[in-house]
Amino acid sequence: MGKITKRLIRYFTGIICVVGLTCIILSSIFLSVIYTDIQYRDMREASEKLYRAADDSSQYGGIISDYQLSNVFTIRDGKVTSLTGMTGGMGMNMSGYMLNLDFDNLEEKGKFETLRGGELLYYRYSTGSGDIIVIQNNRFSSAYMRYTYIILAVIFMLALLLSIPVSAYLGKKITEPVIELQKASMDITKGKFDVDVEVKTGDEIQDLSESLKVMAESLEQKFIMQRDFIANVSHDFKTPLSVIRNYSEAIYDGLADSKASRRYSGEIISEVDRLNSLVMELLELSKIQSGKAALKRERFSLNDFLKSFGTAFEMQLIQKNARLDINPLEQDTLVLADAEYLHRVVYNFLDNAVKYCGDRGEVSLNAARGASGIKVSVRDSGPGIDPAFLEHIWERYYKGARSGGMGLGLAIASELLKLHGFKYGVESRLGEGSEFYFIIP
Ligand code: ADP
Repeated sequence: MGKITKRLIRYFTGIICVVGLTCIILSSIFLSVIYTDIQYRDMREASEKLYRAADDSSQYGGIISDYQLSNVFTIRDGKVTSLTGMTGGMGMNMSGYMLNLDFDNLEEKGKFETLRGGELLYYRYSTGSGDIIVIQNNRFSSAYMRYTYIILAVIFMLALLLSIPVSAYLGKKITEPVIELQKASMDITKGKFDVDVEVKTGDEIQDLSESLKVMAESLEQKFIMQRDFIANVSHDFKTPLSVIRNYSEAIYDGLADSKASRRYSGEIISEVDRLNSLVMELLELSKIQSGKAALKRERFSLNDFLKSFGTAFEMQLIQKNARLDINPLEQDTLVLADAEYLHRVVYNFLDNAVKYCGDRGEVSLNAARGASGIKVSVRDSGPGIDPAFLEHIWERYYKGARSGGMGLGLAIASELLKLHGFKYGVESRLGEGSEFYFIIP
């Protein structure tokens, strides 16, 4: 028997015991009160009918038998008369009551015991012309109570007996999908991500199975990305490392003359720089994604910020015979942002644009006011980007064949823009160039 089933049995029996005990306690307190009250009400009704029947003694018999009255007395001018005596008598003899009943001091209603030990109820109905006292057997007796307890006990036992198979059945119904989910989660921990659970319970367990599937898919994606990442990183590190090793070996073995040694050392320095920037990019992305990168917002002039990129790509532009135009706002404005992080974003957009703009290409850095804010964009006259590639361009390690980087630049830019809460995007058409932008609200 499963743990859930055992717990269900415990809950069920507990609830039944509490309900059973409450029933017994409440019935012992209230049942006699309620039942006796109902009898008094009947007796009052009977008294009223008897009063209305007035002197028509022929109707008395019907009323007395309808209401199962034991006896009816009238008290008029201190004289007690038994109506049942007149109608031939129903129930106990009059002297029997009278021994125990003090007619002079009767309250509106009450109980009294007969000499034979039975319990009777009386009701005194006062009228202008005298009182009518109706007497009835108290139908609520200890025997009645005993029967009530026996019935309650039988129901209680039946409920208790039924609770075991019912909770076993329910427990099984609940545990089956849970066990299936448990197996699936064990499979996931072993790296089996194609979760094949069909839970159709229509409740939270089904929701849990859906979440488990989503989790497995996302874990699989992460697993694949991690695997690709290790492959990419190894590849990206292997090439500069082997270049560094080859050149160092040539210098160490004395195979290079002083001119070649100088050239080789230059290559080594640039490969080390490349490795360094790869490591820095990785560290930066992990810092942003772990939430440790906090924004240091400050107000600065947007035009000064844009103009600061004027000389950053001079060498590359000269080598390509390309042009960079900076088109600041007509009227400068102060913007509130983290200048260092925003510099990182624009630098990356420009770096890519210069890299892909082609010989004699044109790159522009623009700022323009729009409805939703100031749009800062970097446009290039490069080859444009394939729409299928464009969909994933902001993802980590997504890079083109000619990249030379690790495909982290735009991922970092995207994280930094998200951190600022700026909208951003890219528009590109094959053969027509690309535009990367963000909007400062
Ligand atoms: P990396 O530059 O290290 O490759 P990025 O994340 O900066 O990484 O860029 C991802 C990829 O997006 C690049 O490899 C390149 O294929 C493509 N890309 C980015 N900017 C441009 C651009 N302006 N024109 C054409 N392709 C681009």
